[in-house]
Order: sequence, then C-alpha cells, then structure tokens
Amino acid sequence: MEGAQYDAQLCKQCRGRCCQGHPGLWSEPERFWRIFFAGRIPTAQELVGLLRQRSLALRDVGGVLIPAPTESEQGCTAQRENGCAFTTSERPCQCLALIPNLETLLDDLIHCTLPPEYGSGAARCHWRPFQPLLHQAQRLLV
Ligand code: SF4
Ligand code: SF4
Repeated sequence: MEGAQYDAQLCKQCRGRCCQGHPGLWSEPERFWRIFFAGRIPTAQELVGLLRQRSLALRDVGGVLIPAPTESEQGCTAQRENGCAFTTSERPCQCLALIPNLETLLDDLIHCTLPPEYGSGAARCHWRPFQPLLHQAQRLLV
C-alpha cells in the first residue's frame, strides 16, 4: 500500500498498543476487493463468507459500514502473541498508515498519528457508494 508507515522494529518493541484499542479499518474499498476478491466486487453472500472465515466485522463508523477485524475487550482479535494474524500486504489500511512515534514507548499514551487521507472521514467517503452491498451483507450475517 502506498503510504505504509509500518516500522517493524519500533512496533515490535511497543507490542501493538494501537491493536489493544479499536482495530484499524480497510479505508480503501479497491484495496479490500483486491486483497480478498482479486479486485472483483463480491456478492453479499460472498462477502458474508469472507467475514465469517476471516473474523471480520462491518463496523458502523458514523453511519457508514466499513470492514475491519472483529474486536473484543482486549482489542483487535487479530492480535497474536507474535504480532498480527494478517500478513503485511493484507493488513487494514489504517494499521499500515499509522505513523509510529518513539514517544509511544515512553509512556502509556499512543503518540502515533494517522494521516487524514486514511482517517475515518476519508474512509466513510470511500465506502459510501458500497453501502447497499454492505447493508445486505450485514442483514445476512445476523
Ligand atoms: S502504537 Fe504506534 S508504535 Fe505501537 S505498534 Fe502501533 S503504530 Fe507501532
Ligand atoms: S489488524 Fe493487526 S495491525 Fe491491525 S489492529 Fe489488528 S492486530 Fe493490530
């Protein structure tokens, strides 16, 4: 992904503090379709199959559904003892775009920042055209 900021060394030392909060979103639909459906827009049934198989959710972000890993009280369910269950190339856009900051290692606060083009506002704009499909998938999930 263009703009990936992942710093393996720093993030390994940090042990994924960001992952203990909300999981990152796939903020770019085209990238999401490319990773999981070879670039094709799936049917609602196919999308539900993927969500179940990979433990993904359609998160309501200000009224817009966006795919993301599921979360529990401990944070992102994709977080493993040895790191993220997703490969770097399939990891959510926001996880890759977060700019690591050394300050995060020094206190309990996350100083790492997300460029606005990968923020929730941009993600909502990108996913708005796909809402009929995502809502259909959401209804099939329950
Ligand atoms: S909180 Fe920052 S330093 Fe820690 S894993 Fe996440 S991006 Fe890396
Ligand atoms: S998908 Fe991976 S990198 Fe992103 S929040 Fe979950 S465990 Fe962390």
